[in-house]
Amino acid sequence: STFLELGLKEPITRALVDLGYETPTVIQQKAIPQIISSEEDLKAFAQTGTGKTAAFSLPIIELADQTNVNTQAIILSPTRELAVQIGKNIEQFSKYLPNLKTVTVYGGANIDEQIRKLKRGAQIVVGTPGRTVDLIKRRALKLGNVRWLVLDEADEMLNMGFKDELDQVLEATPDSKQTLLFSATFPKEVEAIANNYMTQPVEITS
Ligand code: AMP
Repeated sequence: STFLELGLKEPITRALVDLGYETPTVIQQKAIPQIISSEEDLKAFAQTGTGKTAAFSLPIIELADQTNVNTQAIILSPTRELAVQIGKNIEQFSKYLPNLKTVTVYGGANIDEQIRKLKRGAQIVVGTPGRTVDLIKRRALKLGNVRWLVLDEADEMLNMGFKDELDQVLEATPDSKQTLLFSATFPKEVEAIANNYMTQPVEITS
């Protein structure tokens, strides 16, 4: 199949052509139509290199309301490097959607600048767990309008000791959101997050 057949609009497929993405990967073929057509939670077994970033980002870019600058998606990732990479990918995927804004937040960098960027508005926020919680506590990041919560590399986030931060971010989001959990492994700690925070998730594998 093609990205167009998966339900993505032309400004997005045009950006994918620019990036040299020709054929969707397995996880993309499964996740993109599922997320576009259903508000069910999603539990995905996927390692790095499978194309998982585009699998969760493209449907969010497709569905986000560009006319409203409220934060509609919060994407959590274990490390600064990964968060920056996801943020860059989303900016590339959405380059023909000029009203769609993405802000990436992470520790070890000036928080005031991140607060300034958030004040200007961003439909999509990518963050590491600690800095995301910090910004929520400072009321610089408001998640009351979130429609999608992505937990990327959930196993790594838990290995790194971010359980409390995940709980705090989850509590700051509305019950009505769709949770998309991506993990390479499913030890009991990840299953506990999945069971506590997702309702009968659809399961997919890469
Ligand atoms: P990820 O698993 O999201 O880290 O992606 C792994 C690599 O594959 C990244 O360099 C992506 O830019 C690239 N990639 C993802 N999806 C595709 C695709 N459908 N076609 C070509 N490259 C892709």
